[in-house]
Amino acid sequence: MAAVVLVTGGTGLVGKAIEYVIEHEPEGSRFGKRPGEKWIFAGSREADLRNSEATLKLFEKYQPTHVIHLAALVGGLFANRERKMTFLRDNMLINDNVLHTAHIKGTKKVISCLSTCVFPDKVEYPLTEEKVHLGPPHSSNFGYAHAKRMVDVQNHAYKEEFGCNFTSAIPTNVFGPHDNFDLKHAHVMPALIHKCYLSQKNNTPFKVMGDGSPLRQFIYSRDLAKLFIWQLREYDSVEPVILSVAENDEISIRELANSIVKVMNYPDKPEFENELNDNGQDRKPASNAKLMSLIGSDFKFTPFEQALGETVTWFLQNYGNARTGQSYV
Ligand code: NAP
Ligand code: GDP
Repeated sequence: MAAVVLVTGGTGLVGKAIEYVIEHEPEGSRFGKRPGEKWIFAGSREADLRNSEATLKLFEKYQPTHVIHLAALVGGLFANRERKMTFLRDNMLINDNVLHTAHIKGTKKVISCLSTCVFPDKVEYPLTEEKVHLGPPHSSNFGYAHAKRMVDVQNHAYKEEFGCNFTSAIPTNVFGPHDNFDLKHAHVMPALIHKCYLSQKNNTPFKVMGDGSPLRQFIYSRDLAKLFIWQLREYDSVEPVILSVAENDEISIRELANSIVKVMNYPDKPEFENELNDNGQDRKPASNAKLMSLIGSDFKFTPFEQALGETVTWFLQNYGNARTGQSYV
């Protein structure tokens, strides 16, 4: 039977990257489209997945055999800090509707997207897949983190009670074309690209929140897309897989801001606001050992400078249509 792959959140950063890879990799190759496969990329306009009837209608319309479940209320540190209950409830509703509907419609496989925010704040590093539930997440995003963590619990319960093939992926910080470049609510990389652009345009200081010391691992959305396609086709365990660059590829927010300055040819230096309360988590280094042992060491990540360059080029070429001012109502 032909596979119908439904990508929820298909209009966002990660969804657009999967669409790009499926369209651009050679047909029939490891990450390219396979004969007989149909890919559906659904956004919130097509179905608000917080609503169970809308979710059921979406599944009845496309009859997916496989689901890559990306849809979520997503935001950076400051959005998460301001709206913990909304992040908790929206994401719990979305995840419950998608998994329940996939179960009752007999969907063969679901991969849900978590985040390294789900891990305990205080735990021995590096983060590895079996540490998800070992303690509370960082206080800045506990709403989002708990909703996402619960997906792993649901996946195990669906498997044990009903034998479902549901699993999850745990990406680190993602960036790339089609990101949300909102100044206040976005993640750090798109927010800083937008801020640097405005500083250059208006001849104003390029201001970065916090003191620049926190460390993060950044994965390019088009690399992550390949990893999702690999997981869909080649991985069949309920246990999550961390989808990340190597553990020693952490970079500081200061280094990130300096790289953005370089790529955008901004003539000045970034200025750090130095509000320590704005630093968020110091670091959350994740191991990609499980991933690399399964996918093979020949999988190559795009070099960071190249991926950042492609992202900035996309942003500059699409400034008029990009998400540059999304505010919550
Ligand atoms: P994004 O660009 O903000 O995209 C979010 C997607 O979810 C959009 O397609 C959006 O649809 C859809 N969506 C939001 N609310 C919805 C609703 N109520 N009903 C149906 N669809 C809804 O986010 P992203 O960065 O691609 O995130 C994709 C996944 O990766 C999420 O599960 C996120 O938690 C995870 N993740 C992201 C990062 C990161 O750094 N970005 C890191 C780790 C994990 P519309 O655009 O049509 O509204
Ligand atoms: P996190 O990885 O979940 O904490 O999410 P973010 O992508 O929002 O990254 C937050 C880190 O970037 C914190 O250390 C912030 O202090 C720092 N940062 C610096 N400037 C900004 C900014 O303009 N927006 C965001 N979201 N973070 C910023």
